Amino acid sequence: MHIRPIYHHYDPEQAGPPESYRYCPFCSTPLVMAESGQRLRPTCPSCGFVHYRNPAPTVSILIVDGERVLLGKRSGDPGRGTWAIPSGYVEYEDDFLSTAIQEAREETGLDVAIRSILSVVSSFISPRFHFLGIYVVANVVGGTLEAGDDLDMVEWFPLSGPLPEMGFQEDMDVIELYAARAYEGLPVDPDHAPVKRGG
Ligand SMILES: [Zn+2]
Repeated sequence: MHIRPIYHHYDPEQAGPPESYRYCPFCSTPLVMAESGQRLRPTCPSCGFVHYRNPAPTVSILIVDGERVLLGKRSGDPGRGTWAIPSGYVEYEDDFLSTAIQEAREETGLDVAIRSILSVVSSFISPRFHFLGIYVVANVVGGTLEAGDDLDMVEWFPLSGPLPEMGFQEDMDVIELYAARAYEGLPVDPDHAPVKRGG
């Protein structure tokens, strides 16, 4: 058994170079291209800021209950109007497990305990969205089911399907992987650091 690690939803060659900052976000000086780490990057000639463009780390929470999985209908992009595994961006001041617990709470109303790390994928969604997605498995430990944040609806679906109209092949593959029970993922220390949320 293998996980599929990379998903291309568009052709980067066709899309051309990604958008970039034109002015320094710290001091507003126009950026120039300068070499850093073996490639040309937008660089501030005044304060030295270098724009390293990296994929955004996200965490997707496969909330399971026996033979059911919780899915949400997305109200925002990417994937507006389609169903997906609840997910969110890892904020700079947060760790990915705390993010998973917070996002589950905000999007589904449920308190969850993270059981395992199931998969990690690179998702080239569009020129605007490149995610490094961490998939974790979680159990419900409390709360009341209610859609929130960037989900319009949340519903339980059988792991074996049929699933609603899914926005991302990544999510479908991870559900299939989990449903096969061939691999439960890397177990997570249940005493991991408590949730601390900045901002
Ligand atoms: Zn600057």
